[in-house]
Amino acid sequence: MANILVIKFGGTSVMTAERIKNAAKIVAEASKHHRVVCVVSAMGHTTDELLQVSSQVTAQPDRRELDALLATGEQMSATLMAMALQSLGLKAKSFSGVQAGILTDNQFGNARITHVDSKSLERALKATTIPVVTGFQGFTGYGDITTIGRGGSDTTAIVLASALKAERCDIYSDVDGVYSCDPRLVPNASKLSVIPTSEMLELARGGAQILNARSVEVARDHNVKVRVRSTFVPGDEGTLVENDCIDRSFTGLALRSNLSRVELQLEKLELATTRDLRSFPGRRMKTKRMLGELLAQSGISAELVDPIKPNPFKLLVMTSKEDSVQAASILQKAPICLKDIVVKTDVCAISLVASQVNNEHYQECVEQLSQHKISLLATAMLEQRITLMVPLAMAKQAVNVLHAHFAGIVVAA
Ligand code: ASP
Ligand code: MG
Repeated sequence: MANILVIKFGGTSVMTAERIKNAAKIVAEASKHHRVVCVVSAMGHTTDELLQVSSQVTAQPDRRELDALLATGEQMSATLMAMALQSLGLKAKSFSGVQAGILTDNQFGNARITHVDSKSLERALKATTIPVVTGFQGFTGYGDITTIGRGGSDTTAIVLASALKAERCDIYSDVDGVYSCDPRLVPNASKLSVIPTSEMLELARGGAQILNARSVEVARDHNVKVRVRSTFVPGDEGTLVENDCIDRSFTGLALRSNLSRVELQLEKLELATTRDLRSFPGRRMKTKRMLGELLAQSGISAELVDPIKPNPFKLLVMTSKEDSVQAASILQKAPICLKDIVVKTDVCAISLVASQVNNEHYQECVEQLSQHKISLLATAMLEQRITLMVPLAMAKQAVNVLHAHFAGIVVAA
């Protein structure tokens, strides 16, 4: 029997009837060589529009009802895609998250997929029917519909690819692959033909809006091969994302401009949990870790960065603008000796990703930025990523300077 291929279309790929028909042709072509499972996002900006209407009805919509509402977006596109496939003479059937057996926990709005009971999808495949599955949704053990976080259709597709042991998962959108930086920011960025999953994950966490970060974690953990490709450039191979090692001293840059920085000024670094630590850096590290965990428990993804100007009592937390108010209120209640807390939105974070980042990368970033009079406010260094916080107004210049340096391309003055 032919191998399984999961094909996912993003919102822009199914925005209109015409585009749904175009996407259906891609599925039809693939179905000549594979057993295809199709996953769809909601049409265009449907999810935003549904959120908008609900906010007009009430300022605080019930989270269960909101998820049931948002799930209708993908229901629309899945049914229309099934019809489009049928009109091409193929057997196709739409499946909601419930019908596809996608079980989640009960965190409405940001649920996690806990299990996939793929029997119904397997039955369809056996009957040579193409299942068209709604992305972004599942259901709890108690039968409530849940959604799995914005941009979650990527995760649905990759989870299904894993559950069905698919050969690959093709993610179709309006971008034709993974670049060394967003070409809208850096016009001479180059397209990568392959990228290791771990580096893709760092780019996604760093703000590259190509794949949802959680979906890349699933691909990494379950060894799913993913191809990022464009719906509008037929035949283009895009970029393969897979668990393989390539040794690159520079993979790419990503930018997060939708950021808030929460600045914490501490009285002292004494807390019950860190009393046993004698050394100052140790206490600071433990405080940072504790705050990071506290935020993560509330579902807030945050990064703790170190200010360039040494100030042992100052801690900097970066979160998305949407999460900053909640983050600040959590930090205010944290068991630390807080003197002052301020939230600002005047910064952005640039992430440099490589197979292994080292002090040399770091020094070169510092030098390049200072040569171009771009102030570096804070940094953080992980195994495969350096985060650089710079003023928002200098975002574009900064990514271009760094890209020109690391990609070895001379940039016009
Ligand atoms: N429609 C959902 C969203 O806009 C899920 C997705 O597109 O992946 O976030
Ligand atoms: Mg979308």
